[in-house]
Amino acid sequence: MLTLESLAAGVANNDAAAALSGQEISAQVRQMRSAECPACGFHVGAPFYDGGKQPLAMIAWPASQVEAQTMPRLPLDFVRCVDCGHVFNAAFDYSNVPYSAKPNLMFNRGASWSGFIRQLREETLARVPAAPTIVEIGHGDGHFLAALAEARPAGRYIGFDPHGAQHAGASNVELRAALFDPFRHIPELKPDMIVSRHVLEHLTSPLSLLQGINFAAALLQREVQLYFEVPCIDRAVEVGRLGDFYYEHYSHFTTQSFQKMLARSQFRLEELGHGYNGEVVYAFLGTEYFADQVLRLRAATDFFCTARKSPAKISGQLDEIYRSGKRAAIWGGVGKCAAFLNAYGIDAFRFPLVVDSDEGKTGTYVPGSGQMIRPARVLKQEPVDLVIVAAQWRAKDIVAEMEKLGLDCEVLLEHEGRLVNYYTADHPYRAAARNCH
Ligand SMILES: [Zn+2]
Repeated sequence: MLTLESLAAGVANNDAAAALSGQEISAQVRQMRSAECPACGFHVGAPFYDGGKQPLAMIAWPASQVEAQTMPRLPLDFVRCVDCGHVFNAAFDYSNVPYSAKPNLMFNRGASWSGFIRQLREETLARVPAAPTIVEIGHGDGHFLAALAEARPAGRYIGFDPHGAQHAGASNVELRAALFDPFRHIPELKPDMIVSRHVLEHLTSPLSLLQGINFAAALLQREVQLYFEVPCIDRAVEVGRLGDFYYEHYSHFTTQSFQKMLARSQFRLEELGHGYNGEVVYAFLGTEYFADQVLRLRAATDFFCTARKSPAKISGQLDEIYRSGKRAAIWGGVGKCAAFLNAYGIDAFRFPLVVDSDEGKTGTYVPGSGQMIRPARVLKQEPVDLVIVAAQWRAKDIVAEMEKLGLDCEVLLEHEGRLVNYYTADHPYRAAARNCH
């Protein structure tokens, strides 16, 4: 079994940690943090930078010295994922970031930045058809979409940004004040390409957006080209630069963590590069189709449909049992059995008798439906015409118990969306129960 001690021992055997004493290693292990990495989903982080409490650095735009000096201060508690090297603020709370105040207009006007944008525009347009549909997630002031539209007027350009510019200068550019939802907007717009620049570092769950894009495209059997760009902290980490770490940037990508996030999103990487003298990392990618995911989706949909139909079918059978005047007992009333009673509306009025093999449960009540749970032996004094076994996996044991008590009645259990006869129907529960709890 993996314990913190064995982990420490493992670290001790590693050359990189050879210089540390056992005590130092134990202290290091105690400092490890449990926090989910937004880039790769790994849950173990190392303390990286405790910046104390600082005001918002980028989007608050204080209008006076007093306002600037009295701004609320927010915790900077940066940890680093030990699996991919990503850095993120474990104390981040998205509700503290009032994006509606003013769109972030930084970085767009510097000379080398404009050169980068020009080159990016060429590379983007080289990857799409002559009249492309291009979506930008987080269009900000809309300058990149406008630049694409100007260079390729035959295309359609749609920006999504709840707090970005809303009025596009050109008829082929549409700016929506909305979040991009891959499961809604990919079917609606059928984009050839999705671009997003300097957005993923603000999201608490970039993986959910990216994986959603890949799966939505796969379902539509469409390959979508992608371009993502984020600030890169490789150099900041290397030289110990602290100014990069402020509250609005929840997430800080290294080249490695950016790659790991894209790999976890299951895209096909076409080109990875750095811009702006290494301060930005970007990638061109394509969506990929995974047949096994689509098969799992189908299996889930089948279950979903069965789950929607089963209650009606079984409720009908229960109505029939009640109307027939047969005396019925439900065997089992806790855990899965309680869920069974609630799922099928087995109420205390029509079906008041619930028994259980475990006498420890006697006198308690079925959560939700409210029948008092009684010991199974009451069925000897109060014989019934049928027993409904609420937990199929115990059916064989329950039937054995019934035989021991000398009970002779019909036994029903739920199988494939209906109640079936334990003795005569085709179902898998006559086999012995093993290791089921
Ligand atoms: Zn990670």
